[in-house]
Amino acid sequence: MTDKKIVFFTGAGISAESNIPTFRDYMGKAHEENFEKLLSLSYFVKHPEKTWEWLDGFIQLINESEPNEAHKLIASLRASVITQNIDNFHTLAGSEDVVELHGSIGTCICMKCHKRQGLISKCSCGSWTKPDFTFYEENLNEEAIYKAEELAKEADIFVIVGTSGIVYPAANIPTIAKHAGARVYEINPGINAFPPTIVDRYIKKGASEGIKLLIDLIKE
Ligand code: NAD
Ligand code: ZN
Repeated sequence: MTDKKIVFFTGAGISAESNIPTFRDYMGKAHEENFEKLLSLSYFVKHPEKTWEWLDGFIQLINESEPNEAHKLIASLRASVITQNIDNFHTLAGSEDVVELHGSIGTCICMKCHKRQGLISKCSCGSWTKPDFTFYEENLNEEAIYKAEELAKEADIFVIVGTSGIVYPAANIPTIAKHAGARVYEINPGINAFPPTIVDRYIKKGASEGIKLLIDLIKE
């Protein structure tokens, strides 16, 4: 295998084969409300019960699922990963260098007494908690952004998988990789998220099939 530095940049699409729908798919079926509203900080502060009602189902879905072949292939490549996902699947699959740009499920903080605890909607004091992953309108963790930018600059091969590229500042990361000299691939069975000025090679396939093809391409 290549000794080049490989960095993956992943979004909800990589977990679709674990039966965790992308938000667009999930909302289409289960909810009429817009997920950006439900998961925005200002809405949550006013209506925690509404957001939690929705989140409980989504978190349960993640807890009942597991990493798929795509996560495992990335781990076997010993590649670094920058993910927008909160499902923790890259780490569970064995990847050791993972930046979770939006945090992950697992912990929360009480909105009243500020006790940090395992992810549960109500604190022992009776108040609603807020999950530690990033909501819309919330700033990203600065350390995570810095680490992601450094990885993007170090990459020889930068692979975008299953993201629609519309959530900022995460969506700036592929541009940083390209400008620093990486060869950029984009794997997505749907519409390309990034333009040809950033992407050198599109692979129009689902995550696991696309990563297998990528492995053949970078072997050459
Ligand atoms: P998105 O829903 O906006 O886009 C998902 C992308 O995945 C689309 O471009 C779609 O074409 C592609 N896709 C669908 N099936 C695929 C497959 N089998 N293989 C590869 N790609 C596939 O999601 P987003 O761009 O990630 O942005 C929404 C935000 O919500 C992100 O922060 C995301 O991480 C988060 N989110 C996380 C999870 C999770 O943790 N599993 C799930 C849903 C959303
Ligand atoms: Zn409390």
